[in-house]
Amino acid sequence: NLEVGIVGLPNVGKSTLFNAITKAGAEAANYPFCTIEPNVGVVEVPDERLGKLAAIYKPKRILPTAMRFVDIAGLVKGASKGEGLGNKFLAHIRQVDAIAQVVRCFADENVTHVEGGIDPLRDIEIINTELCLADIEGVEKRIERSQKLLKSGDKKVQAEIEVLQRLLKILGDAVPARRAGFSDDEKLLLRDLNLLTLKPVLYVTNVSEDEIADAEANPYVQKVQAFAAEENAEVIAVCAKLEAEIAELDDDEAKAFLADLGLAESGLDKLIRVSFKLLGLMTFLTAGEQEVRAWTIVRGTKAPQAAGKIHSDIERGFIRAEIVSFNDLMKAGSQNAAREQGLVRLEGKEYVMQDGDVTYFRFNV
Ligand code: GDP
Repeated sequence: NLEVGIVGLPNVGKSTLFNAITKAGAEAANYPFCTIEPNVGVVEVPDERLGKLAAIYKPKRILPTAMRFVDIAGLVKGASKGEGLGNKFLAHIRQVDAIAQVVRCFADENVTHVEGGIDPLRDIEIINTELCLADIEGVEKRIERSQKLLKSGDKKVQAEIEVLQRLLKILGDAVPARRAGFSDDEKLLLRDLNLLTLKPVLYVTNVSEDEIADAEANPYVQKVQAFAAEENAEVIAVCAKLEAEIAELDDDEAKAFLADLGLAESGLDKLIRVSFKLLGLMTFLTAGEQEVRAWTIVRGTKAPQAAGKIHSDIERGFIRAEIVSFNDLMKAGSQNAAREQGLVRLEGKEYVMQDGDVTYFRFNV
């Protein structure tokens, strides 16, 4: 299960946002494969296609797909040297697949800023520096090892050493590895280093309640956007305090509340949607009288492996996938109509799943 880690300096609103995540949280019983620890929040991924499918199939239950957020508190200046709760938290970040960095863009005299005043770019730099320092340690060790191999006659490692040394220099300037423009081949070389600064990043600017409707006008948010654009990172704006309130409401109340604020979508839904994209994920759907359900897969997944998400037996005994795209199914109005119109395809083992494929797997038991 893919996971997003929430990081940021103290007092920027991480816990407030994380509380909103856990309050809005998915019914744990529906997701038995997600062990839930106190710092892990599991949320359902909103998908309006599910409701539309349900209108056709009238299933007993509707099950959205879910994703995990991990609250990684304790990252402060000096963390890589073991200050604060330091290293333990850096180890935590290693395990996540993407990082959501919360940056404070709200003014509030009652909430002290650990570094003095509000300055999101300085805050981002502090966090990035700690992550770079943590990466440097790993890279230095690896260079040592590779140099030993080179001495013992292993010429293959020469190219690797060159990449590592380039990386070391970049990190030494406190520049994250994702900004280094490594080629895919180079990234492959670096893969088992599991670099913190090579993970995809999403900056979550936390703005005040009265600014959320027009967050892009906030000059701090603009600065973060300009910075993020240089590394192809995503930026979203939330008001953590409001999210905590919205998470207490039922769906209809939340909709009305958001409409009042002039917002189309809650910050939490935005966070989920953009994280999903950042992780390179997509959704396929299954639909029947029992349930209508969404499943998460990584882009590029082939049909048998997608079937394996449902059950390993279905992957093992995979024969064919019967697929109709969600849009075709909606146009046809029913599975039978779609079949009559030739919109239902039979796909084999090499088929690469597409977002919104409504799928029925045929398999041998
Ligand atoms: P953390 O240390 O990053 O986890 O920060 P917290 O979530 O504990 O928030 C620190 C303080 O900032 C708390 O008093 C929150 O109520 C306050 N806070 C968080 N988000 C917002 C916000 O969007 N607006 C305002 N005004 N205060 C906020």
